[in-house]
Amino acid sequence: MSFETLNLHESLTRALTAAGYAAPTDVQAAAIPPALAGQDLMVSSRTGSGKTASFMLPALTRVLASRLAAVKTRGPRVLVLTPTRELAMQVAKAASDYGRYVPGLRVATVVGGVPYGAQLAALRGPLDILIATPGRLIDHLGSGKAMLGNIEMLVLDEADRMLDMGFIDDIKHIAQATPAQRQTVMYSATFAGHVGRLAGELLREPQRIEVSSQTEAHGDIEQRLHWADDFAHKNALLDHILTERSVDQALVFTSTQRDADWLADRLHEMGHKVASLHGGMPQGRRNRVLQGLRSQHLRVLVATDVAARGIDVPTISHVINFGLPMKEEDYVHRIGRTGRAGRTGLAVTLAERRDSGMIHRIQRYTTQRIPMATIEGLEPKRAEPRPAPAPGLPYGAKPGARPAGKGFGPRPGGKPFKPAGKTYSKAGPRPAR
Ligand code: AMP
Repeated sequence: MSFETLNLHESLTRALTAAGYAAPTDVQAAAIPPALAGQDLMVSSRTGSGKTASFMLPALTRVLASRLAAVKTRGPRVLVLTPTRELAMQVAKAASDYGRYVPGLRVATVVGGVPYGAQLAALRGPLDILIATPGRLIDHLGSGKAMLGNIEMLVLDEADRMLDMGFIDDIKHIAQATPAQRQTVMYSATFAGHVGRLAGELLREPQRIEVSSQTEAHGDIEQRLHWADDFAHKNALLDHILTERSVDQALVFTSTQRDADWLADRLHEMGHKVASLHGGMPQGRRNRVLQGLRSQHLRVLVATDVAARGIDVPTISHVINFGLPMKEEDYVHRIGRTGRAGRTGLAVTLAERRDSGMIHRIQRYTTQRIPMATIEGLEPKRAEPRPAPAPGLPYGAKPGARPAGKGFGPRPGGKPFKPAGKTYSKAGPRPAR
């Protein structure tokens, strides 16, 4: 299935292309058509399945319809309730991402733990989509500041969690403040017990959608860690891996945009079909690069974390971490770009000694050791760093602390790596900053 068959407005499909999405996920394919038709839905699907877009695209379609009809109302048309502030922020980001080409889209969040002032200002102004946690929204309703009389679509995201957190009365109260003829869409891992009863109260002839297998489901991802003695050794390892026959397509991550361009140039000179992808490139070029990857004109893509978020190309057989991520959770996002659509994938991390602090944090975050590997003739000469303090990084440093080495950075005195009995194409110096 493609996004075209969903008949979404052109401004939405454009945003999806910009995000790099090739096709709808299972929950999107199942939920978007009935949601567009105005049906109430009870949807079960896991986080990571693309569920946010499955309600946000229909929500944005409503906003677009009102723009075209030039209807002016006060108060939002769409209300999304989420259990936590973090989820509300994620949903708001999805609204702005998918709605980036919707003219003058106005999205506001109303969540606990932040001052009332800005929220009140947002609630007073014209608004399309309101994303809120139930507790704080109740406060604003009580003071008469939140207007819910024009709500056309109510979304309850992670309803089971909201009920676990004791929000049942708040949710009922909020729903009562919205028009009875609204569309209601409810997402929950389960619809047993009290969640099911709430659904019975709030939804009208809902369609039940259950997506157990996700398109996002990962096949087996094998992980390997290669220690490199220095930058030249790391390049030699990369070059060796890229010549392996088992590489259908490789996604190579660098820490910075500059590194991505530099490495893509170097690999291009070596004869690889390669391009770089990062946020500093114009959107048109980014789209063409992604197209080149999908059509297999490119075999190697050198990318930064942000640019690679939306990449869903099942033929990526290898993810190679050439520069480590800045945050340990990005490691998980990165390796998830392979092993798509049930295939197997290989995630290779090339680390220098100064990266040992980040490797340690990644392993702690994933609660897994990344198995070490070597390549014959390219074995490291220096002993494996202990899973311990990298220079300047205390053992057990707080997540988010800056890793000891980021990007290439000039390293004075770094000598080219010369393994015994093996020659390799010279990587050249690290790119200057
Ligand atoms: P969600 O389940 O909504 O939290 O989405 C999980 C991740 O999947 C997010 O990073 C989305 O950007 C991404 N995503 C959503 N829809 C698609 C799609 N059709 N193709 C590829 N990635 C997607």
